[in-house]
Amino acid sequence: MSTNGRPRTTAEKIWDNHVVAERPGAPSLIYIDLHLCHEVTTPQAFSTLRARGLKVRRPDLTVATMDHSTPTTSRELPLLMDPAGSAQLQQLEDNCKEFGIRLYNLKSDKQGIVHVVGPELGMTQPGMTIVCGDSHTATHGAFGALAFGIGTSQVGHVLATQCLLQVPSKPYEIRVDGALRNGVTAKDIILAVIAKIGIGGGTECVFEYTGSAIRALSMEERMTICNMSIEGGARAGLVAPDDTTYQYMAGREFAPKGAGWDAALARWKQLPTDEGAVYAKQLILNADQLEPMITFGTNPGMGIPVSGKIPTPESMVDLQARADLEKALKYMDLQPGRPMAGHPINVVFVGSCTNSRISDLRAAAAIMKGRKVSPTVRMLVVPGSMQVRQQAVAEGLDKIFRDSGAEFREAGCSMCLAMNGDQLEPGEYSVSTSNRNFEGRQGKGGRTFLASPLTAAASAVTGVVTDARSL
Ligand code: SF4
Repeated sequence: MSTNGRPRTTAEKIWDNHVVAERPGAPSLIYIDLHLCHEVTTPQAFSTLRARGLKVRRPDLTVATMDHSTPTTSRELPLLMDPAGSAQLQQLEDNCKEFGIRLYNLKSDKQGIVHVVGPELGMTQPGMTIVCGDSHTATHGAFGALAFGIGTSQVGHVLATQCLLQVPSKPYEIRVDGALRNGVTAKDIILAVIAKIGIGGGTECVFEYTGSAIRALSMEERMTICNMSIEGGARAGLVAPDDTTYQYMAGREFAPKGAGWDAALARWKQLPTDEGAVYAKQLILNADQLEPMITFGTNPGMGIPVSGKIPTPESMVDLQARADLEKALKYMDLQPGRPMAGHPINVVFVGSCTNSRISDLRAAAAIMKGRKVSPTVRMLVVPGSMQVRQQAVAEGLDKIFRDSGAEFREAGCSMCLAMNGDQLEPGEYSVSTSNRNFEGRQGKGGRTFLASPLTAAASAVTGVVTDARSL
């Protein structure tokens, strides 16, 4: 409850706990507990600090890793990479050294995608405000944190002041009740949500995922869901913390210990949404009715069940939606009314901050075990972090992937956005476990079908879009 007795949502409680200054009609100044950095959105911010003679206000609350431009082929020197990416990495190394910021560089066994590293090291904690110059910062909301992406100039503000000007978002409840059927995953939940509300459905809102199906998910599955909140137009997305959260966090490197843990737990247990709190919007889904999902178009809202048919523009009442669909189908070179299952593909990518954690790799490996990647397909498996990679090797997943003919890579963003040389050729189709299927996202002229690790692996085996339940 707030001091005036009004029931509040989790996001409202975190917001209230972090307001530094408020003025009517103006954005509020809020305190930031954790600032995550990487090589792409920080160079300009550090240059501004240097030019103005400013220091990083709280280097102890600022952490950097290398992910977007990093090569995933090898960590042996010399690294195979383009000069621009190499310069970005060197700049981050130099900036972190100069400003006293902890950096997980390519030599670190803790390097990885920023949204994988933060949670697995226990930096991401319930009740925090977390920012990063990356759209998918909402991933950290899985822990009951208010986490969102910021622009380059805001990265500079946070570095210099540890504060940020923000307007509060409206609370939007996405309740998923019931139980997922076999072969249906967290990725399918979020693709179904975005297909339902569209890419602008959550504008000005922060999603709170509730319901028995959400509560039953592991932390890694919750991260997959929160990760794609931005694709539904929301500023952030979160799940209120519970025992699953606390069990995941206990003992992690940066999680509180001893008496500090007990005190933190007492604070965290205050975070769940109060009985009677009011949401501005609500969507209710039944998990029992969900199917494995796949996108067919050029935004993450253009999704259907894998067993479904590509929509026809004539079925769209809204003229803008019809035009968008026509444009998307032209780019994707797909025929309306045809089934998605059976469509030939060229590449399968298992990776990205959406689906590159150990449970994702285990799910893909379970499909690949004893099977071969289709001779017409190239399959890349890219762990989200070196810790995930080590775990996968310890479990023998690397061998399963390699024996099947897949490439098992070093950690990084890789073909999620094709900044590091891992990319589609023009006209190629991929089934990708990443989060964006925009035109050219995985390489100029490349065409992306977003799906779960199960669907991706099954499609790698058959060479065509495949419902994993059919294998
Ligand atoms: S994996 Fe993709 S979405 Fe995630 S941080 Fe990297 S580039 Fe951004």
